[in-house]
Amino acid sequence: MNEGVDADALAERLGRVRHNVAEAARGAHRDPEGITIIVVTKFQPPSLVRELAALGVRDVGESRAQEAQAKASQLAGSGLRWHFIGRLQTNKAKRVRGFASAVHSVDRMPLVDALRADGADLDCFIQLNLTSDPARGGVAPEGMLGLAERVLEAPGLRLCGVMAIAPLGQDSRRAFARLRKASERLRVLAPDAVAISAGMSGDYVDAIAEGATHLRIGTAITGKRPERA
Ligand SMILES: *Cc1c(COP(=O)(O)O)cnc(C)c1O
Repeated sequence: MNEGVDADALAERLGRVRHNVAEAARGAHRDPEGITIIVVTKFQPPSLVRELAALGVRDVGESRAQEAQAKASQLAGSGLRWHFIGRLQTNKAKRVRGFASAVHSVDRMPLVDALRADGADLDCFIQLNLTSDPARGGVAPEGMLGLAERVLEAPGLRLCGVMAIAPLGQDSRRAFARLRKASERLRVLAPDAVAISAGMSGDYVDAIAEGATHLRIGTAITGKRPERA
């Protein structure tokens, strides 16, 4: 049906991840319904995204504005919610607003200013940099509250919560525990900003144990990614 996509293998991997997520949620005494699986489809063809939609997936994640916009327009009417999860240049902010329901990578004031607009609210996650390398995406934890205030003041933006990527080579559970603490600090300022976007193919069980509400899972569901163009 969808050319080049092994639908059975995809369904099996999706089923396995959904099962593991539910198990991990129960293990953490959490309701699996409170956890959204975002299937990361960056570099994958639209045919694979279409197959995911047919399998009941509602949330997909993309990390490059141009690629994401093209896929979203090809899949218009599929009922998918597009989450933008990658580094976002300010000059692409309006383009992303055009198709995305959420941006998980809000990490600096000029980006907030570029995203603000009249019209429907865009869900925003503040991305935290949990490494000591300032070149990595995300705001340093000290900058979180100032950035949050900027989002709260901006028209057309809804502050949902925090996002982070566990630093390579470090204990992911401990990294996600730091993120959870940051989430608690954020909620003092913004009680509705309860979401925690954390957990990828290799570490989503740890993320669930530390309260993640939005998992961003790629290869564990899609299989290997094609080489990036
Ligand atoms: C690619 C990507 C993911 C998914 O990674 P996998 O290891 O394929 O699950 C999650 N979050 C971000 C920000 C990504 O860029």
